[in-house]
Amino acid sequence: MAHIGIVGGGLMGCATALNLLEQGHSVTILERDAGGLPASVGNAGILAVPEIDPLARPNMLLSVPKWLLDPQGPLTVRWQDLPALTPWLLRFLLSARPAKIAASRAAMLYLMKTAEADHVRLGNFAGMSGHIRDTGALTVFDSVAARDRAFAHETENAKLIGCNVEKLDMEEARRRVPALQGSFAGATFSDGYKTFDYPLTFLRRLQAALRERATLLDATVSSVARAEHGIIVRTEGGKEFIFDRLAITAGVWSRRFVADLGLNVLLETERGYNTTFMNPSTTLEMPIFFSEHGFVATPFENALRVGGAVELASPDAPANYKRAAAMRKKMRRYVPDLPEEGGTEWMGRRPSTPDTLPVISLHPRDPRIAFAFGHGHLGLTLSATTGRHVSRLLAGEGEAALAPFSIARFQ
Ligand SMILES: Cc1cc2nc3c(=O)[nH]c(=O)nc-3n(C[C@H](O)[C@H](O)[C@H](O)COP(=O)(O)OP(=O)(O)OC[C@H]3O[C@@H](n4cnc5c(N)ncnc54)[C@H](O)[C@@H]3O)c2cc1C
Repeated sequence: MAHIGIVGGGLMGCATALNLLEQGHSVTILERDAGGLPASVGNAGILAVPEIDPLARPNMLLSVPKWLLDPQGPLTVRWQDLPALTPWLLRFLLSARPAKIAASRAAMLYLMKTAEADHVRLGNFAGMSGHIRDTGALTVFDSVAARDRAFAHETENAKLIGCNVEKLDMEEARRRVPALQGSFAGATFSDGYKTFDYPLTFLRRLQAALRERATLLDATVSSVARAEHGIIVRTEGGKEFIFDRLAITAGVWSRRFVADLGLNVLLETERGYNTTFMNPSTTLEMPIFFSEHGFVATPFENALRVGGAVELASPDAPANYKRAAAMRKKMRRYVPDLPEEGGTEWMGRRPSTPDTLPVISLHPRDPRIAFAFGHGHLGLTLSATTGRHVSRLLAGEGEAALAPFSIARFQ
């Protein structure tokens, strides 16, 4: 049994900690804001197993100029942050080459194949069951051509994942989700998507399970360092801890600890916005992706959340909630009954790598240290799987298929 420290108590930190506890280790999690609302609580709540494509793809890059012209569109860049973002953006462009896309899809498929089973196991260990609903998801399109292109691609992915996709006209989509009273050209339905009960409840229940079995400390980590006798973690409060092993799971803020440990990484925030309506007058039967506009609406028990989009910006830049309002306005074109007032706006920071692959890796020169961050749009989906892999890596049992997720690719 080892004493293992974890920096960051979002989804990656909690899932890693629970897997390590299952192996019999003693675990201390240092989280600077255990009651806070990081990406791990405000996300769209979707188990998105069919999403194995990297973000950087030729067709996506072709849409970028059009998107950037609309300040409230699916993608925006905070121009004053452009110099800091440039290395990430250049690597993003290089990731759109066919060989890179194929390798990325194969790597993500490997993680996605066990995502649901890993969540069921993690949930059971934390005392949860039935917290993921079998909803499927609709994607609506403004043109038949876009729907047909997406259907062909989704069908290809569905064969790999083992799920089904249907092509629907507007009437059939509306029959399944009657609130879709606006006009659109058609939709696809995939049964490969599932929905969590509520992301905030999910994280709080993982944290509660940890409080019972591990040490969850309210502390801001200021530095980490390697020493022969252990890994030293210092906090802003002046405390010092020495652990046998350490996992860095601090979302986008992991990059400063990567630097402390003598390594490089390209990790930036794709900031997303949403609005949550509690006890909404309108409800949906399943999540609806408005992919041409870069957002999604998810129904939870007693809540409806509308949001998404990508804002490339420094993590600490002020939020621009006009982006949340713009998505509500767009959604009213399809769901005219969406309430105008009464929602709570939120901004969250997706920790993203330029090649869309998360970092799930040991330190190349020190197997006592593991990294788990950079899951971008898919961190809820992949948290349980990541936690399992990290606990095995720290036990010296990492699988060869994890090589594409190594931090070595940034050195
Ligand atoms: C709008 C939006 C919608 C999304 N929808 C989905 C979805 O439907 N499905 C899906 O799979 N994924 C989704 N995601 C992505 C997912 O939410 C993230 O990938 C995931 O939450 C990242 O988890 P994390 O633990 O790596 O990071 P975080 O949630 O950011 O957690 C990191 C933690 O580290 C702590 N920390 C940072 N620095 C320190 C320090 N110095 N000391 C101590 N603690 C520190 C922070 O306080 C934080 O709690 C969405 C994200 C957004 C923004």
